[in-house]
This record gives sequence, structure tokens and C-alpha cells, in this order.
Amino acid sequence: MARHLESQLDFIFFFYGLSFILLGALCLVLARGRDDDRGTTIRWIGLFGCVHGANEWLDMLALIAGDGPEFMVVRAAVLTASFVLLAEAGRKGGITRGLAMPGPWIYVPILIAIGAIGFVDGIASAKAAARYLLAAPGAILVAFTAFMGRDYDIRMNRPLMVAVAVAFASYAVTAGLIVEPARFWPASLFNQEVFQRVTGVPIQLVRGLIAVALAALIWAAWGRRVMETLDCPGYSQHLKRQFVGVLTTLLLVLMLGWVLTEYLGEIYRDEVESEATGDVALLVSGLERETTIADAMVTALAASPSVRPLLGDREGGRVTNLSMLELDAGVVHAMRGLIVNRAGDIVGSSDSADQGWLGMPNLRSVDWFEQAIAGRPVHQIRVDPPQRLRTYLTASPIRDAHGEIQGIAMLETSLETLAELMTRFDQAFFVVDARGVVVLTNRRDELFRTLWPRPDLPRLQLAEQFGASGRTMLAREIFGGDWVEFGGRRSYVLRQPIDSTQMSLILVIPVKGIFASRLLGIIITLQVAIAALFYFFGMDRGVRDRFERRLREELLTQTEDLARQAATDPLTGLANRMKFDARLSEELARSQRSRRVFSLIIFDIDHFKEVNDIYGHPVGDQVLVRLSRTVGASVRKADLLARWGGEEFAILLPETDAAAAYETAKKLRLLVAHTIFEHVGTITASFGVAQVMPGDHADTLVARADNALYRAKLNGRNRVELSLPVIEVVELSPTA
Ligand code: GH3
Ligand code: MG
Ligand code: MG
Repeated sequence: MARHLESQLDFIFFFYGLSFILLGALCLVLARGRDDDRGTTIRWIGLFGCVHGANEWLDMLALIAGDGPEFMVVRAAVLTASFVLLAEAGRKGGITRGLAMPGPWIYVPILIAIGAIGFVDGIASAKAAARYLLAAPGAILVAFTAFMGRDYDIRMNRPLMVAVAVAFASYAVTAGLIVEPARFWPASLFNQEVFQRVTGVPIQLVRGLIAVALAALIWAAWGRRVMETLDCPGYSQHLKRQFVGVLTTLLLVLMLGWVLTEYLGEIYRDEVESEATGDVALLVSGLERETTIADAMVTALAASPSVRPLLGDREGGRVTNLSMLELDAGVVHAMRGLIVNRAGDIVGSSDSADQGWLGMPNLRSVDWFEQAIAGRPVHQIRVDPPQRLRTYLTASPIRDAHGEIQGIAMLETSLETLAELMTRFDQAFFVVDARGVVVLTNRRDELFRTLWPRPDLPRLQLAEQFGASGRTMLAREIFGGDWVEFGGRRSYVLRQPIDSTQMSLILVIPVKGIFASRLLGIIITLQVAIAALFYFFGMDRGVRDRFERRLREELLTQTEDLARQAATDPLTGLANRMKFDARLSEELARSQRSRRVFSLIIFDIDHFKEVNDIYGHPVGDQVLVRLSRTVGASVRKADLLARWGGEEFAILLPETDAAAAYETAKKLRLLVAHTIFEHVGTITASFGVAQVMPGDHADTLVARADNALYRAKLNGRNRVELSLPVIEVVELSPTA
């Protein structure tokens, strides 16, 4: 699991970045148009999310395209900047919750400290410091703000706010306390590497998941508030569907994208692996050819009957030249062959310059001699450091008739041809001995370094022992093929043991290509994710517009209904006095503008009190309704019949002079008188008619019509009286 996740680091970085950018975008959208305290905190969180997400994508780029010192500095700066934004969100939040917070000047000493640590201790330490000094306090303050806000902002859902607080607190731990490995305490003790070793999960995956949870929680909290504010069940339903839809779609897109990315990487990986297998087989067979021939020759030499006598021949003090033993040095590029007796004295040599024992070194304490005399096989690859001469040394015991070891035959052959072949490969080759120490390689600087840590030796001791500086080159021992980090690059490493020796050959292929092909998968995933988001939020806009339109229409009908109600008499359904007054003013204004005449009829039922008294109020009401319908049906469309009050009615007759109105009134009088009312039988009404005069106001005109009506009542009821201007003046003065 851990190793698999490690090989997925690019996708994890992508996922991490995407989560944060979505979180950031969401917060920025929510903060839009809000200038209150919480709007500011959310805006800073939004900025943090965007910048931090971008930083993760830069990390991904570094993994894919390769890293460099300048790029590392840039990424550390972007990371620090994102944490400044987070800290600012926390500081602003703290202020709104009444905490005593330092001013923005606080960033100056913090940034100076981070810069200084980076300068002295390296980029990883600077990043660790930025996490301790900015990310941890920032996230904790934001968590605190959200937690305290659970009561403060009643419209935010309480459990959701607590969940947001918990998520930010977890982020404070995973991003603020689990830091890059740095040399200072506690980063040296507990860091991302330790976390990954213990849990098997890259910390980036955990942080990405927290960002997803945060985005979902903040979104849900916002959605809740919208639902409660709008209180529109249809839209709430849509919001819920959208929430679930977006989350499941994104999850699906990411999973499928991951599978696609894996598949694309796999194609490339297979190619690399088969190529590596071929190269390794070629080199191993070359190496094995050299070693098996040398091994066979030294065995033959040790068994040669002419060798044994040399071991006892100490008298002459002479070193026998091995060419006498027909050692065909040319075949195996043999450089040196020796016959050594039990005491470690050289008794035979392939070098013709070695002639006497005197001056020859005793080999008793040389490692290969000690090993061979003890009966253990010797197969060594040796390097003569000053000349960088690579050789293969093999030794075989010489036994007497009883099988006792009497001496050693040794042969050292040159590996220069093979080494020459190796330099033609771009990839790094390492031949390591049983301890993992590089004894042969086409990378000059790596000679004698240790490839992987050995559990029986602490790292430091290992480094001292083999003269290597710092760490081992690989994080762990490789068996077969594996994808690992090598010199800061993801590489494919293939190990194959070399027959009959304890050594093995290791091939390292740095693989940019695999990331390029995986990047294709990542980009496709990103595009589909963006398309899905556009779809969902584009749809959202349409749905919101529809709901808003419907809301507007409902409001409009409601207003119209209200206006109609305000202008209508509830019993008869006719226009009421208010409406009539408004029409009268309009008509007056028009007549003054265009000198057009209009008239007014006011009529009142005769002795209506009696109808009520005899038949009861409800029957009276029925009479009023019936009368309204009858009269309403017989006036022109342009005329306005209104209930003036009680059992009094008024008719406004546009474009009608007094004479025509008089005729209309007479016609209506007859109509009323001839109408049979249920229960009541017939009733009569009295009519007053007046025509508008120049300089008239509403009340003067109404007063004239009212006067005419009054006269009709006086003159015996069931009559029509016309208000004539001349009569008016005469008659009005005494009553007024
Ligand atoms: P007159 O011929 O002088 O007009 O006699 P009248 O009885 O009609 O007298 P007046 O106009 O002063 O009386 C109005 C009566 O109409 C008083 C009230 O009982 C009756 N009335 C007013 N509004 C309503 C109503 O909405 N429903 C009913 N059933 N009666 C009403
Ligand atoms: Mg009346
Ligand atoms: Mg009346």
C-alpha cells in the first residue's frame, strides 16, 4: 500500500492541489459582495486555498519535469505566501472574536526568521519553519473563529460550523505540525517522512482529503443558509441535488482519472521494464562470462599437479613463473596470477619480474587470502583507486591428497572491457557486493558508496565505513524491479544477482517519460472535472433564474390582486369610492386639458331602510348586489359604475354631456323600477345628474350631482333631477 501510494505521488499532488483550488474558489465566491467581518475571513481563506493549491501543482510539476534549486526556492516562497494568507485569515478571525491580535507587522519578523533559517539550514528547514510559524497558528485561529461562530452567526448551521472547526484543527496538525524533515527539533524527530514510514500514507493525501472535507462542509453550510433565507422548497431540493451531484461526480471523475493515469503510466512502465531487463541481461552475461572463465581457470590451476610441488619448495627461495604452468593469461585478460603457500608466501607468479621471495609481501593478512585459506570462495571486484583500474579477483584452495588446504591459487583479471561497455549506457549501472557497497559502476562519484541502508549497521557508521557522505542512495534494499526515488528523481531500478558470486548488478533508469504519460491522464482528469463543474454550476444558474422569475411573477400577481382588492367593493364587486375618486380626478384633468365634457350620475335607493327593516339585512344585501349587476350591465363599457357608499351609487360617463347623461339616468330609473327583486319585489331609486364645468374640482362637481339627487328626493323620489349651472347658482346659495 505504502509503496503503491508512493508511486502515485503525482496524482496525489494533483488531487491535493485541485481540492485546495476548489476550496479557495468556493470561499472567494461566498465572500463576494460581503464586507462584514466574516466575509473578510472567508476571503482570506479563499486566497489561501488558491495559492496553496497552485503550490501543490508546482510540486507536481517538479516531480514530473524535474526539480532545480531555483524552482525549489520559488516553491518554498509560494508555500510561505500561502501560509501568510492562512495566518491572515486566522488573525482577522481572531480579531472578530475579540482576541488580542498583533498587527500585520508580525509577518515581518516571522518572514525574516523563515528566510534566515532557509539561508542557514536549507529549503526543507525554511518550509518546516513556515509551517510552524504561520500554518499552525493560522489554522488554529481559523478553527477557533469557526468554533466560536457556531452561536454568533445563528443562520449558520451549528453542527456544520463545529465540523468546519474540527477540519481546520486537523489541518493545523497535518500541515502545521507534520513538517518537512529539518535539522532542528522537533522537525528532526517527527516529520513527514516519519509519518509516511509509520502510517504508510503520504501526508499530502491526508491534507488533500481534509481540503475536500472543508470545501464540502463550507459549501453545505452556505447551502443551508441559502435554503433558510430563500425558504423555497423547490430551490432547496435543487441545491441538495446539486451538492450530492457535484460531490459524487467529482469523486467518480477522480477515480476514473486515477485509473486512466495508472493505465497510461503502465504502458510506459512496461516498456521501460522490458528495456531494463534486456540491458541488465546483457551486462550480467558479459560479467558472468569474465568471472566464470576466471573461476574455471583458477580452479584448474589449483588442481594442476605441477602446482603442488611448488608449495614445499622453499629452499630455492625463487618464485616460479606461472607461464611455465601454461596459464593462458590472454584468454581472460588475466593481469596477475599467484600461487601462495599456507604461510602467505608467494611461491608462483605470472609476473616475470617476481623472481625471489625476498622483497615479496607476505599475504597472510590480506582479506582474500584469509578468506580462501579458511576454505571460503573468493569472488571480488576490486578497484585500484589511483588508477581506477577495475579487476575481478578469484581464488581457489590447493589441496593435498588428504584434502587439506596447502595453499591458494589466485587470479586477477581485468574488467576494463566490461567497464568500457558500461560507459556506453546512459543509465547508471552498479555492481554491488553482498553488503550493498558499489564496487563497479559507470558513475564515477558513486564508487564505494552504499546503495541501501542495512539494518545491522546504523546509517552513520555505514557512511564512515565506506567513505560515503551522508545518506544511502536508495531508501531500501531492492529485490528484482522497483520504482523508487533515486537522486531526487523517480526511477526504475532493476537488480539481478551475478551467478556464483554474492554480487549483483543494479540498473537505474530515471523516468521522466512515465510522468509525462501520467500527466496526460492527469490533464484529462482535470478537464473532465472542470467540464463537470461548469455543467453543474451552469445548470445552477439556469435553475436559479427560473426560480427567481417564478418568484417575481408570483409577487407581481400578488401585487395586482392587492391593488384590485383595494379598488373593489367587496359586496357588489363594483369599483369602490377610492377607485371612483381616482378615475374622477383623471377625468377632470383630461377634460381640463382637452376641454372634453363628461357627466356624473349619483343615485340612491328610496326608503331602503324599510327593506332592511322588513326583510332583514341579508336580503338588503342581495338587493344591492342584484341592483349593481342590473345597472352595471346596462351602462356603456367606458362608463364607470361605483358603489359610492351604503345604498348610494355613482356613474362616471366620459365624453357625455348633461343631456345625454340625463337620458341615461331616466333609462336607469325605469330599469330599476321594473326590476323584480327576490323577496322584495320592486324598488325605486332617485337620480341626480351633473355635467363637468370649466374650473370644476371633484368636490364641486360631486356637490352639484348630490344636490340634484337631494332635489329628486325632495320632489317625491323615483325621479331624475339635472343640475343646471344657472339653477345651481340660484338654488345653492340659500342652502349653502
Ligand atoms: P331615502 O329614500 O331617503 O333614501 O330613504 P332611505 O331609507 O333609503 O334612507 P337612507 O338613504 O338615509 O338610509 C340608508 C339605509 O341603507 C341605512 C341602512 O340601513 C341601509 N344600508 C346602507 N348600507 C347598507 C348595506 O350595505 N346593506 C344593507 N342591507 N343595508 C344598507
Ligand atoms: Mg342613502
Ligand atoms: Mg336611500
